[in-house]
Amino acid sequence: MSIRRTIRWTALLLATLLVNGCDGKPLQTQPKTLVIGMDGVQLQHYEQLGDDTNLRKRLLYGKAYAGGINGRASEQATVSGPGWVTLLSGVWANKHQVVSNSEALRITPRFPSLFKRLRDALPNAYLASVINWSPINTAFLLVDAQGNNVRESGLSDAQVTARTLQILGNTPADFTFIQLDEPDQAGHAGGFGPAYQLALREADQRLGLLLDKVEERANEHPQEDWLVIVCTDHGRDEQGSGHGGVTEQEKTVFIASNKPLNEELNQPSIPEDNPGPNNLYGYAAQVSLAPTVLRHMGLDLRPEWMLDGTPLLGATGVRKARAIESEGKLLWNSDSQGTVTIHKNGQVVANVQAFLQQWTDPEGMRQANDYVLELDETPVAVRTRPASTH
Ligand SMILES: [Zn+2]
Repeated sequence: MSIRRTIRWTALLLATLLVNGCDGKPLQTQPKTLVIGMDGVQLQHYEQLGDDTNLRKRLLYGKAYAGGINGRASEQATVSGPGWVTLLSGVWANKHQVVSNSEALRITPRFPSLFKRLRDALPNAYLASVINWSPINTAFLLVDAQGNNVRESGLSDAQVTARTLQILGNTPADFTFIQLDEPDQAGHAGGFGPAYQLALREADQRLGLLLDKVEERANEHPQEDWLVIVCTDHGRDEQGSGHGGVTEQEKTVFIASNKPLNEELNQPSIPEDNPGPNNLYGYAAQVSLAPTVLRHMGLDLRPEWMLDGTPLLGATGVRKARAIESEGKLLWNSDSQGTVTIHKNGQVVANVQAFLQQWTDPEGMRQANDYVLELDETPVAVRTRPASTH
């Protein structure tokens, strides 16, 4: 046997032992997730930092959109409250009801965040939420995150990072959400410019420290299966100092991951009837984060959850599910030979070949309805509004 072959066989044997244990029985892999939220990061400006960022060198990323579909039931302001709650719940604000940054708002219990869903499904999981911009923990998700093992708010980005490194080093860290706010603060203070670029560079360096820690931990615990996702809540207006509107730039965000994700993130699929500015709606939507995390954590996605997002891991199901209320029509993108099961307000109402890419509700859409389109055990939902109102 050549030396190279011997090395290869030794490596294979070691890997088998590590994954299977010495008695040959498979050790159960333990899913772990770290979501790193960076507030108000404009992707184009992050990319301008060059090729030596942790985003470019160590992660895979794709463009995505925030703020729902302009002029449709899912449209929402490109501000932080609606943005973070959409990311963490997998539904748009017409469902979760955090429609602004008003601290009186709470997520609707019918559409809970990842904290509640994971706590219900995994009673012993170690859940953490460590954030700079307090209202995520202290207002919108106040009730929802009560079962978290760690819920800390109002920290500086340096403190968020230090605390997260502790959690990753010393706890089971099953699901950890953190929020770095300083890029957004730099944008509000001075718009795009050197100070904003510096804030992005610092956020990227913090990302690097966190990725180092996850890699170190994954090496020590090969049975752990780590998903790291980086995302942002909204883009910025032309000058970079504000946001909240529906311009292409304010709606442009990104989703990055340490794992290869599926075609929903990597291969845009354009909704022909409504492609959005520069085909923006062909990219992944912000609602995709939560179903991606739930699937990675081992939960089956359930139609009754009515999640609006296409998961970015595993089967996509139908893509770009949408409604044209005035025509009573559901549309989607798919070239699958499978069958889509259509649920309406909790009842199965039709089975349709996926490649047909549309279905017309014989009752029309004169009232608000909740539809779920299920393909390959992957449900995705659309909430319509009454056809007469627009
Ligand atoms: Zn902001």
